[in-house]
Amino acid sequence: MSAQNVLNIIKEKGIEWVDFRFVDLSGRAHHISLPASEVEEETFVNGVAFDGSSIPGFKGIEESDMVMLPDTETVYVDPFTAHPTVVIMCNIYTPDGERYDRDPRSIAQKAEEYLQTAGVGTTAYFAPESEFFIFDEVRYESGQNSSSYFVDSEEAHWNSNRKEEGGNLGFKVKHKGGYVPVGPTDTQQDIRSEMCRLLMEAGLRIERHHHEVATAGQGEINFRFDTLTKTADNLMKYKYIVQNTANSYGKVATFMPKPLFGDNGSGMHVHQSIFNGSEPLFYEKGGYGNLSEMAMNYIGGILYHAPALIALTNPSTNSFKRLVPGYEAPVNLAFSKGNRSAAVRIPVAAVTPKGCRIEFRTPDSTANPYLAFAAMLMAGLDGIKKKLDPRALGYGPLDKNIYEMSDEEKGEIRSVPGTLDEALSALEADYEFLTEGGVFTKDFIDNYIGLKRDEAKAVAIRIHPHEYSLYFDL
Ligand code: GLU
Ligand code: MG
Ligand code: MG
Repeated sequence: MSAQNVLNIIKEKGIEWVDFRFVDLSGRAHHISLPASEVEEETFVNGVAFDGSSIPGFKGIEESDMVMLPDTETVYVDPFTAHPTVVIMCNIYTPDGERYDRDPRSIAQKAEEYLQTAGVGTTAYFAPESEFFIFDEVRYESGQNSSSYFVDSEEAHWNSNRKEEGGNLGFKVKHKGGYVPVGPTDTQQDIRSEMCRLLMEAGLRIERHHHEVATAGQGEINFRFDTLTKTADNLMKYKYIVQNTANSYGKVATFMPKPLFGDNGSGMHVHQSIFNGSEPLFYEKGGYGNLSEMAMNYIGGILYHAPALIALTNPSTNSFKRLVPGYEAPVNLAFSKGNRSAAVRIPVAAVTPKGCRIEFRTPDSTANPYLAFAAMLMAGLDGIKKKLDPRALGYGPLDKNIYEMSDEEKGEIRSVPGTLDEALSALEADYEFLTEGGVFTKDFIDNYIGLKRDEAKAVAIRIHPHEYSLYFDL
């Protein structure tokens, strides 16, 4: 779409505001709005200036002038503003007109450019399954709700069943029994449908929505796969619309990976494949899961680099509270056709050559999608380049039920890192696959690790409520 096309849309739809957005290192969107009357063709060339020094992880105060340059392909009408507004996603440039090397969106684009030069294929496709909870109240306030927040959710569930405000509505979701019951048990059908309606209006192709396994209002909406940067843009749009729709219902939607102890967490499984033009490169009939050698090597790269990769795909202290046994979240650095405790799953039900793909189950939605998708592609491409065979490297296939394995067999399976700090140390030791072709810079990685170490420390020095249960009376 040309700048003139965007200006035509603004005119035809009576748009009053143009909202220029960019994404910071953590994956938060920021915006600056210009009156539509101030936006002209030149704005698309010169961009919109902003102060980079106030964005965590961006420039220091001495070099704070930054420029956002809009990508006209990303325009959509904001469904939540009283004043008609269009949203445009931007790339960040330095005042000298250079692509800013800490801009996550530019890194995603550089990863796609690197794929073009790697001689592997033309296009990588991504499809995230981003789960979320819808709560009736904000639970992270300290004080009042802190006791119910930390109890085992099964207990909380039965306690909450004793008295029903406004009459007995019954039909509660049973503990970990949330997977696809119809109403009246599923009370969130309408709110998810409304989210989907708004997402479709904003240009996403929605494939399905459903309630997820957790007891307390967990949902999932799937949208169609696309190329790397487009999928990251779509995910930003998805999170914005999910959270604002919940807000307009007087509720709150969170993508936090493990908001409730003792119940399922929210993942963001990422399906991935590579094509050469219209030819799918991950399919080969007869191989394990009908995967080609190239797909196997891609898996090899993902699993080999997983400890470091996870610093970008699971970048919060809370991420590691999800990656524990018993909740369908992966704990094993292994691949499998069916086993949901394996980090890489190969979906085999109803898969055609074009639909043939691998699913990396570890990521969660606290990941910055631009960085996470770029890093996964770089890990997979490194696996292809070095012909890393996940079978030879001891990553499976892990098709046996892990509960039936001997301790000896289990001992050979490697696990995901246990903490954010562990993952960051792995990234410190293994980052070169990311800096290939200048996709990520060493400066970016050092800066990122520093920011995330600060987060981990900020959590570690705070007193945890469970410490009272363990130590108060000693
Ligand atoms: N909620 C699970 C997770 O944390 C995934 C459930 C599913 O397989 O969709 O990854
Ligand atoms: Mg799911
Ligand atoms: Mg999945």
